[in-house]
Amino acid sequence: MPVLVMKFGGTSVATLDRIRRAAKRVGVEVAKGYDVIVIVSAMSGKTNELVGWVNETSPLFDAREYDAVVSSGENVTAGLMALTLQEMDVPARSWQGWQVPVQTTSAHSSARIEGIPPTNINAKFAEGMRVAVVAGFQGISPEGRITTLGRGGSDTTAVAFAAAFEAERCDIYTDVDGVYTTDPRVSSKARKLDRIAFEEMLELASLGAKVLQTRSVELAMRYNVRLRVLSSFEEPSDEAGTLVCAEEDIMESNVVAGVAFSRDEAKMTLVSVADRPGIAATIFTALSDAGVNVDMIVQNIAEEGRTDMTWSCPTNEVARAEKAMADAKVDSVINYQELIADTDVAKVSVVGIGMRSHTGVAAKMFRVLSAEGINIRVITTSEIKISVLIDRKYVELAVQALHDAFELEKAA
Ligand code: ADP
Ligand code: ASP
Ligand code: MG
Repeated sequence: MPVLVMKFGGTSVATLDRIRRAAKRVGVEVAKGYDVIVIVSAMSGKTNELVGWVNETSPLFDAREYDAVVSSGENVTAGLMALTLQEMDVPARSWQGWQVPVQTTSAHSSARIEGIPPTNINAKFAEGMRVAVVAGFQGISPEGRITTLGRGGSDTTAVAFAAAFEAERCDIYTDVDGVYTTDPRVSSKARKLDRIAFEEMLELASLGAKVLQTRSVELAMRYNVRLRVLSSFEEPSDEAGTLVCAEEDIMESNVVAGVAFSRDEAKMTLVSVADRPGIAATIFTALSDAGVNVDMIVQNIAEEGRTDMTWSCPTNEVARAEKAMADAKVDSVINYQELIADTDVAKVSVVGIGMRSHTGVAAKMFRVLSAEGINIRVITTSEIKISVLIDRKYVELAVQALHDAFELEKAA
């Protein structure tokens, strides 16, 4: 029988009533003749609570135990979803990651899926089970320890299952009815897109649009998974939601597809380091060894053999970066005057494959921000995106102004 993957995010399984509504939707697909793999998130808010408990118990926690605790929210919803389906006379059972098994790397708290042998689940489908309810976000390392895939990781579980089982489609049910030109919570003018190219979705996700985890889009692109984002709160239809698809499958698109933002950014400047060959290598190797995910980098013009080095990284990695630089100073590996951390910044980005062939997008973006009196701290660009770091208090203003200027309310 054809296989369908249906993923329900936190708000879609937030209460027993919501689980029942999601289960009904699954029942409809089973009645159509699909074997269904349901991927569930933890109930909304649960993972945050578990992360909070870990931090309170042990600030510099053992990541293996973090994963043991934080993965547990999904176990509850998987069991409840299977029970709900059984109550509806749909043959279903739950699977935790290790039971499938979802094989991952040992990079605890941000593990990558390496393989999903379909044998165990297929054997149960062959015996008449119609729905496998799988706990999202979790797997098992080669050492036999529980791992998690990073926040938002259930999306990646869903796409990986769709690839492993050659599913006809991977439907991501969430609390919005698709992918929008920007976060609909920030701009009331945001428009739902009927289709978006993999490359654009990949950039939007990695630049902060948390509607899909970045890695899930990467996998969908690599394995050509038919990926759809839709609302679990609205009546389903074949045209519902947004299809994430190959560029060739989109007839017409805007130069700019969307505006993304991330408030979780910090800007750090190492003041007065020696301007010599190898200095960047030394600094960024130390940061990388400390597990700091550096995003933007700017090196200032040197004066009298000294220069400033600026980078951005997630706010919760500032302490680690500070420790790495302090250690490097003590060891005389890097000599600098001071390290300034600014945690009141945010990143705003415009994304669109049309930028490959259109010039002037960056200039327009800078003009729009300047007209709003917003100062740009750092700029980075790639072929299909432009990102700027600005003061955090201006995020909404910047997003709305850019959305207006690029006429995204007319997007379809
Ligand atoms: P789930 O719990 O279902 O995984 P998430 O909260 O992870 O849901 O993702 C859905 C949220 O993503 C939406 O509520 C919305 O606020 C946010 N979001 C950010 N950018 C976008 C965008 N461009 N389009 C749609 N939603 C977006
Ligand atoms: N529950 C996890 C989280 O909140 C995984 C997910 O929902 O995708 O990050
Ligand atoms: Mg999510």
